Parts: sequence; C-alpha cells; structure tokens
Amino acid sequence: MTTPLSDKIKNIIRRNGPLSITDYFAICLADPEHGYYMSREPFGRTGDFITAPEISQLYGEMLGIFVVHAWQRHGTPMDNIRLVEIGPGRGTLMLDMLRVISKLAPALFEAAQVHLVETSERLRGVQRITLESYSAKVSWFGEFDEVPEGFTLLVANELFDAIPVRQFVKTPTGFRERLVTLDANDELAFAIGVAGIDPALLPAPPGREPDGTVFELAPARQAVMQALAERLRQHGGTAAIIDYGSMVTGYGDTLQAVLRHQFDDPLAHPGEADLTSHVDFEDLAKVARAVGVQINGCLRQGDFLYGLGIAERAASLAKDKPFDQQKLIAAAVDRLAGEGAGKMGELFKVLAISSPTVQLAPFRKIV
Ligand code: SAH
Repeated sequence: MTTPLSDKIKNIIRRNGPLSITDYFAICLADPEHGYYMSREPFGRTGDFITAPEISQLYGEMLGIFVVHAWQRHGTPMDNIRLVEIGPGRGTLMLDMLRVISKLAPALFEAAQVHLVETSERLRGVQRITLESYSAKVSWFGEFDEVPEGFTLLVANELFDAIPVRQFVKTPTGFRERLVTLDANDELAFAIGVAGIDPALLPAPPGREPDGTVFELAPARQAVMQALAERLRQHGGTAAIIDYGSMVTGYGDTLQAVLRHQFDDPLAHPGEADLTSHVDFEDLAKVARAVGVQINGCLRQGDFLYGLGIAERAASLAKDKPFDQQKLIAAAVDRLAGEGAGKMGELFKVLAISSPTVQLAPFRKIV
C-alpha cells in the first residue's frame, strides 16, 4: 500500500537512513504537502474520528462554565484577557464556549481577546468560518509563544495526543530508540536503533520488563506544557488540558493510527490516517510543577463533566423537546461522560493548572 507521503518517507530513509518515531510522527501529521492535518478533513462522520466538542454542544458549554468559574476565582481581572485555544480543530469548542461565556459573564466576554493557535492553514480557514460571528475578537497564531502576553484562560482538547513522541524498546542491552526503516520488500517497518535512554527517565522501578516492552517519551509535549505553564506563572491564569491517556507514567506502546473510524497499522497509510499516542498526564503535571504553577488536579472527563453539572444542563436542554431529541441528548451525555468501551468518560482526563493558586471546582480542595 502506498500513499504520496509513503513514497516521500521511503526516499528520505533511502537518502538519510532510518527515522525516529518522533520524526515519522511529525512528517505524517505536518508534512506541508501531504501531512494529515494539512491535507485531510479529519473530523466527523465522514472523516476519521469524532472529538468531544463535535459530539455535543454540551461539551463546549461545560468548558465555558469552567472558564468563567476560573476567571471569577482569579478575582475577575479585566485587563489583557487572553482566551486561548491550542489546536482548535473546526472551532466548534470555542464557538460553544463563547456563547456560554457571553451569557454568563458579559464582562469577561467583552474584555477577552480570543487567540487560536493552529499549525494547519486549512483548519484555520475552517475555524474562521465557524467563528465568523466573533471575527472582531479572534486572531490566529502558529505557535503558543506568539500569543500576546496577559492573563490567560486556556483550553487544549485533543492537542497533546497529536504532538509526536519518541519510543524506546527494551532489549537485552537496555532500552533502545525505536525507528522506522525499510524492510527486504522495500516496505516501511519498525526497527531498533542504538540510541539509549537515561534510566532515570524510566518509570520506577525499571529493569523487570520483558524484552520488547515500549516506553514513550515526549519532549515536544513537555516543551509545549513548559511554555504554557511559564506563561501562567508570569501573567496569571488557568489552563485545562484534555486528552486520552493515563494519570500515571507507565510502559506500553500507544502509538495508534485511525482511518475512517477504524484502527489502522501506523505504518500503513502515512498522511492519510490520523496518528496519535496516549498522553502521560503525570509527566505533564511534573513539568508544570517544576515551573512553579499550581496543579489543581487531574480528573477523569466523566467526573469533570458531571462535577460541572452536565446532567442538569442536559435536562434543561432536553426540556420541551421531542422524545427522539431527548434521547439524542442523553446519548451524547453518556458518550462524553459515561464509562466503558466507546465512551469518553474514563479514558479521557482533564488536567487543570493555575497561577497564582486558586481553588477550582470540580477539582478537589487542595489542603
Ligand atoms: N481541539 C479540536 C481538534 C483536535 S485535533 C477538537 O477537539 O475537535 C488536533 C488539533 O491540533 C488540530 O486542529 C491540529 O491541526 C492541531 N495541532 C496539531 N499540532 C499542533 C501544534 N503543535 N500546535 C498547534 N496546533 C496543533
């Protein structure tokens, strides 16, 4: 099976040798010509996957409520308010958030500048259309560092899973970096290189895992987390990071490709399948803590949404609606917040960080 990008990747390997997983991951998603986010329409029924904001307006409404709550807890600042989203997809989350913010906190809505950080020119175009009614408020940036300074309220939904990771495989001589190379049939194949990893970076206690065990390290994710934590420390604010992943650093190969709602071999359709890996929230929290901001907590998405009142909001949305619409609303809540296969409530986590220290619902009181 070849794609335009697989030919390009094979040529790179022929010329320069094997690629690290992180380079392969980055090319698949961001190659200027054939990269997944540059060329494809990933979202929705006709795309490859559906994200929480695309399931129901309730999701963005809950995050809007959370942002208003955070702003109030920070003492309702009014100057240089930056409402930031990194990786806004189709812009649906921001649209639903802005509607709620304008209703609940008109002063915040008036004061806030909306800054979207998006690497894909094509998706910026989609976001521009979605957010047309707010066009005077919205500006775009290619990197978080370019966002103007000021008090920051930030959300990132399914961003970190799309930032590349490195992988290391346990061998008889220790963990070695996993690579993508060409096999005897000239097809893309995994291989093991010579680069090792500082054992201090492995989850404790290392050493007992069988050969073949994979460990994922994400310096590029750490760098984004570091930048946004620094911003909060210097200018104040709160960030909510939402993604699928684990609250505890561990071993395991979580590199996954998804094509038209089915799992795919990560080497089979470069540029045509979405490529991600699970997010290590313990590691992100460590980075933020080292910067000196407060970790409000990390909750499962279901606990976060129920804690913010999604059930009550769904009931009021369903009131006076025909029965089949009521059923759709209930199904959306179950998919977003419920537990088990195909539902997001357990697998997805919400990490909130703030500076200076504020107590935010529904995170547990910091004692
Ligand atoms: N938040 C949206 C989209 C998730 S998909 C939703 O929940 O529906 C990932 C998004 O992150 C896409 O918009 C993609 O173009 C963007 N993206 C990927 N890497 C990025 C980076 N390094 N900086 C900013 N945006 C990035």
